[in-house]
Amino acid sequence: MISITSTANPAHAEFSPVTDEPFVPHTQPADAQVPRQGCVTTLSNPADATGSTPAVQVVYAWSEEFGNRYEQFADRIATIVDRVDWSLDQSTDYDQHVRLSCRSGQADFARSLVVAEKIENAVIGGDTPAHVIEQDLVAAGYDPGNRTYMVFEDFQGGAVAHCDVLCVAVTDEWDSAAMLHEFIHLFDVDHAKVTEAVLHEDADVMSTPWHTWSVDQEFNNYYDPSELTALFYTSAYPHQRRANLATWSMLTAPVCCDVGYSNDLLTAQERTIEADAPYAYPAGFGVSGGGWMQVTPPGPENAVSARYYDGRRSLTMNVQSWAEGVLSVTRRPAVTPGLRYKFFARLTTTGSGSVRLRLTWYSASGVALSSSDGTLSALTPDWAEYNVSAVAPAGAARVQASVVSPAGQSFAYTLDALQLNRCDNGRTPDGCRLDSGLATP
Ligand SMILES: [Zn+2]
Repeated sequence: MISITSTANPAHAEFSPVTDEPFVPHTQPADAQVPRQGCVTTLSNPADATGSTPAVQVVYAWSEEFGNRYEQFADRIATIVDRVDWSLDQSTDYDQHVRLSCRSGQADFARSLVVAEKIENAVIGGDTPAHVIEQDLVAAGYDPGNRTYMVFEDFQGGAVAHCDVLCVAVTDEWDSAAMLHEFIHLFDVDHAKVTEAVLHEDADVMSTPWHTWSVDQEFNNYYDPSELTALFYTSAYPHQRRANLATWSMLTAPVCCDVGYSNDLLTAQERTIEADAPYAYPAGFGVSGGGWMQVTPPGPENAVSARYYDGRRSLTMNVQSWAEGVLSVTRRPAVTPGLRYKFFARLTTTGSGSVRLRLTWYSASGVALSSSDGTLSALTPDWAEYNVSAVAPAGAARVQASVVSPAGQSFAYTLDALQLNRCDNGRTPDGCRLDSGLATP
């Protein structure tokens, strides 16, 4: 008799899909305080969405490896989906929500929202690819029309967005930022960062999804609920697709105005200088004093635009030494005395020179009252972000945002990615959105 001593399979480590919630730009509310948006539609059969309004179907996906733990996890998944919705809504001063699909005949919201699906072909002891999950849902009869799918994997898989017959955002790390990041990918939005030089990441769920919940804090990358006709390049050069997440059919129409993490008082053209051809006079801007400007002529990729933020165009200011040069956004947005405002811009130069940002406060009758100057900064070949922040003084009704080059210099700088933030979010240290490049608040 032959005795066989087999090595027992190592016990499966308990798989714990629930991961930490993001905490940038500020911590989210406790579970009990997360608002419940609810569903835009309720179906008797969640797989049959024919004729239904566009919405997201939430799926709990399980396999033989760890079994069906639906009852253990349904409530947690529903809370994470509520946090995804909260993140979108709280990112800006607009109300906008994820459109969710529910099923009838269930005991509570979580069980109405979340359906369980066994993934028969899931990989045991390894990563299950997203297409296996997508094909399983197709085989189970889930409709491709009017639906995208948020799939919470109760097995090893990965955080992936995959579109074939169905579009699925899957993650085996269950937190709202991971799911929101993959969900936004389904709208064909790519990661958001400037890669021409130093990597300047900002508080944006597409660039730092592991700890950030906010969506496009600069209003110039893929999401602008304030101007639905504004379009942004959603992927790196030379991709040409332009879109605005705020128009996605999976979201409710944005409604102004409440208090959110970020906002912007400029128009898309004032932020991005995308409307005009190279060499043209940039619409919406003016110059006084020493210098002249144009839409940046064709040149090296990294000099033409902060393109991974807001597109393919920028503004070039040719500074002349005989006087201070003041490059301004012509329009003066309305302000409220006593509120803080913060003007951001990305600047670069291939030469050598220094500038500062300036806010000039005007009365209702158009009289300049005072100005608030930022730090004088020596520009670099990198698309760094600069800013100036100040409280609107008594009597101020409007503000003008400018970039100022002190007299005595002769060089050219390039300007892009402007933003004028009303600092009333009540949460970050000064109520303004975070400066870019910050990993933590
Ligand atoms: Zn990604």
